Amino acid sequence: KLRDPEQPEFHQAAEEVLSTLWPFLQEHPKYLKAGIIERLIEPERVIMFRVPWMDDNGQVHVNRGFRVQMNSAIGPYKGGLRFHPSVNLGVLKFLAFEQVFKNALTTLPMGGGKGGSDFDPKGKSDAEVMRFCQSFMTELSRHIGENLDIPAGDIGVGAREIGYMYGQYKRLRNEFTSVLTGKGLTYGGSLIRPEATGYGAVYFAEEMLQERGLSLEGQRIALSGSGNVAQYAALKAMDLGAMVISISDSGGTLYFSEGMTAEQWHHLMELKNERRGRLVEMASQFNLEFLAKRTPWHLACDIALPCATQNELNGDDARTLIANGCHSVVEGANMPSTLEAIDVFLENRILFAPGKAANAGGVAVSGLEMSQNAMRMQWTDGEVDTKLHAIMQSIHSACERYGKEEDGYINYVKGSNIAGFVKVADAMLAQGVV
Ligand code: NDP
Repeated sequence: KLRDPEQPEFHQAAEEVLSTLWPFLQEHPKYLKAGIIERLIEPERVIMFRVPWMDDNGQVHVNRGFRVQMNSAIGPYKGGLRFHPSVNLGVLKFLAFEQVFKNALTTLPMGGGKGGSDFDPKGKSDAEVMRFCQSFMTELSRHIGENLDIPAGDIGVGAREIGYMYGQYKRLRNEFTSVLTGKGLTYGGSLIRPEATGYGAVYFAEEMLQERGLSLEGQRIALSGSGNVAQYAALKAMDLGAMVISISDSGGTLYFSEGMTAEQWHHLMELKNERRGRLVEMASQFNLEFLAKRTPWHLACDIALPCATQNELNGDDARTLIANGCHSVVEGANMPSTLEAIDVFLENRILFAPGKAANAGGVAVSGLEMSQNAMRMQWTDGEVDTKLHAIMQSIHSACERYGKEEDGYINYVKGSNIAGFVKVADAMLAQGVV
């Protein structure tokens, strides 16, 4: 009998991992005997709570808050908070499950967790967002701590939201600790944290392309999303000589037939991070084509970089991408490709980097933020960037070690799942049945 049938995203994430792990598990039955799989798919703890807040007109609203503490075998729970109307327990369980493997891949001592709320920050005033964040943290603060659970940002949770939540945590607990990452630079944040996920994904792409004797120079990249991950993936890709031909938001896709320019990138940063506006506004200003309600996957490109949300790229999209010449797919978002799309990529020997490997740079630099806070020091941007680069290279090596097939093709799905699994499972074995 299927447990929790109302959680399709969680089942999808679990199926992806377990189906690739299965042959490995049969060769190593000690993991099956110890019930590692049954334990991995059940969160250690789930916290659900009411988040009441008042809007600017004095009307009270109630949202639902969550924290899924999935696995602490190799370190304290670590993973972002998402504020989006689509948030529910199944979505957060899928994200927390992925996070366990991703965090293990970073080489840093971090367990996996994820949390958030079905609150929609879009269209809310700063004061409303602040009141919501304060209410959310009032309850969450009882369940987290610098040695227990250290949340960060995700969709809908950026520098503004982290700041409000950090301020409330400090007020409630009367202590200045590294309980959140993604903090502002003036109060304990790390240089390169905003850039880390996007930069990391592009560093991973570089490693992957090198395997086929390619570089990013001159490659046409179809990118989706226009938030934190997409912004810095675009910047790094452009820095390395690639041409970014699209970005998107929930309104549609903005197409840059000649590639995005530095001026357009700066405009995007101001539009999305300061004015919190919609991409369609950039179309008329720069005389660009806006493809309303469409994703970018029908555009001819060499590399696809999905950086928006889960299940944004399906089997038909995958076939269209390949027919149009796409040779590599790098997931900046978490689980943007459906199971069918992944099968299409693997069958066609497309270079395919799953999110848990390619977007691990964000949580890796969050781990480095915790280290800097513990030392009461701040590394330079160069130092953090060098460490990020080295971590992405080591993740690539781990994928290669466990995912290289007889014909030389690297199956990054298999590689990342087995590499992440072995680290967590061995720690669980050592710690007994808990
Ligand atoms: P942001 O909130 O900064 O940006 C999200 C982007 O995705 C926006 O452009 C948003 O458009 C679009 N988007 C979100 N939901 C939908 C939807 N249902 N349909 C269409 N478009 C959508 O989030 P991030 O950039 O931080 O996160 C993007 C992805 O990367 C997520 O999957 C996240 O889990 C993952 N990730 C993020 C990390 C980080 O460090 N931030 C680390 C690792 C993974 P709109 O504004 O119109 O909603």
